[in-house]
Amino acid sequence: MAVQMENNPAFNRIPPWVKAKLSPKAIDWIQKVYDWVETECIPAEPVVKAHLAKERWQTSPLIVDLRKKAKAAGLFNLFLPNHFVESPGLTNLEYACCAEIMGRCYWAAQTMNCHAPETGNIELLAKYCNPEQKKKWLKPLMDGDMSSAFSMTEPDRASSDATNIGCSMRIEGDEVIINGRKLYGNAQWNPDLAIYILMGESDASNPNPWRRHTMVIVPANTPGLTMRRNLSIMGYDHAPEGHGEYIYENVRVPKENIILGEGRAFEIAQGRLGPGRIHHAMRLIGQTERAYELALIRCIDPAKKPRGKMLGEFDSNVERIAQMRLELDSARLVVLNAADTMDIHGNKAGRYAIAQSKILVPEIAMKIIDECMQMYGGQGLTQHTPMPEMWTYARFVRVADGPDAAHRHQVGRDQLKTAEGFKKRHEQYWSKYRELSQKWGTPFDEWKKEDML
Ligand SMILES: Cc1cc2nc3c(=O)[nH]c(=O)nc-3n(C[C@H](O)[C@H](O)[C@H](O)COP(=O)(O)OP(=O)(O)OC[C@H]3O[C@@H](n4cnc5c(N)ncnc54)[C@H](O)[C@@H]3O)c2cc1C
Repeated sequence: MAVQMENNPAFNRIPPWVKAKLSPKAIDWIQKVYDWVETECIPAEPVVKAHLAKERWQTSPLIVDLRKKAKAAGLFNLFLPNHFVESPGLTNLEYACCAEIMGRCYWAAQTMNCHAPETGNIELLAKYCNPEQKKKWLKPLMDGDMSSAFSMTEPDRASSDATNIGCSMRIEGDEVIINGRKLYGNAQWNPDLAIYILMGESDASNPNPWRRHTMVIVPANTPGLTMRRNLSIMGYDHAPEGHGEYIYENVRVPKENIILGEGRAFEIAQGRLGPGRIHHAMRLIGQTERAYELALIRCIDPAKKPRGKMLGEFDSNVERIAQMRLELDSARLVVLNAADTMDIHGNKAGRYAIAQSKILVPEIAMKIIDECMQMYGGQGLTQHTPMPEMWTYARFVRVADGPDAAHRHQVGRDQLKTAEGFKKRHEQYWSKYRELSQKWGTPFDEWKKEDML
């Protein structure tokens, strides 16, 4: 039976213009993702926590089990857009609706092989690898038989500007020899982790800074690659995926592991990040919706009545709830617009809309989750609710995949290039005003030029 979207909680937050663009197949998937997250994932959160308390660096057996089931049900790799031959067939816009639902549980995306950094890495391999490399690395990643990490950031370089990346890659005969230090990239301690996609400098003296770098696949068990420690993020270790701090000491990998070709890392990096930013943004919206629901529940809790009234009976809280709703719905529109722009005009043309999402959504999510924690009182800041972890996720997305300042800088610089065009248009207003003044015999105010230019 066809899924009905009206009065269906899976579709309640999807704006009408988006609903009108959903294919019957996408409607079906959105419903399936909703049912999956609501019945298989959210109720299982305490079980996964208990598993991790026992085995910190092993994927919870419950998640392993869910991954098998999701794969069997075809609920796997939905993120890969429909222009890839390997894609299950959703557009960026359609997948964005799924990603919001996935965001309601921190690890739900992982059960469907739709989590970071896997999604960005799979898309990168699907786009830039040769058939041999695809067989070796892409297929097992898409099958969910192994996991991958992306390794670009360095502790002693400003890595948001990737031309600074200095990890040395020397090409000798059939091998690439790597020496350097890296920060981030999932932890080697998790036995599922099989490969690092590493960006390094292979041609430091090339006069073109965009041709100095290369990306290569480094198997996690390669001699000379060691993880010194796990990086905690505001106190969370993010096990069992984690974030490693790495040393590369004379690490040797075959030259055939180079992706696309020597000196072509920037072509790859540019293609990698657009969709991933949209996925993060939609998952953040999903988790913020959940925090909002907790705040609503707290507002009608008859056991919690400061000054004899439930929280929802204070006007100030009614206004807070309304303000959060407005901001959350606006944020969603920004991301859905970015996803649609990518579908219609491509990732490059969508870069402003993607930057808008990357800058605005974490800020709005942090603000709303903070407000929800506050309304929840002391408990809101404890492990009694998922809100502290949610807030931390929103906070780290302000830096991960490039800090928001760098995105603002890029957008602002490009916007300034439009100033000359506006100046010309405003000069035309001025000349027209002069003409009109003469025609109608009205006073011509020289000083008015300041306002019109
Ligand atoms: C939880 C988490 C997960 C991550 N995962 C990965 C991963 O898997 N792989 C990986 O390689 N990296 C990862 N990163 C690293 C992240 O991508 C980098 O930290 C980020 O790109 C910034 O680089 P940087 O730390 O070198 O800071 P820098 O480049 O030194 O920037 C520091 C600060 O300088 C300012 N700044 C930078 N550029 C501008 C500008 N143009 N205008 C104004 N101010 C500016 C901003 O305030 C910025 O925050 C992760 C980070 C976090 C927090």
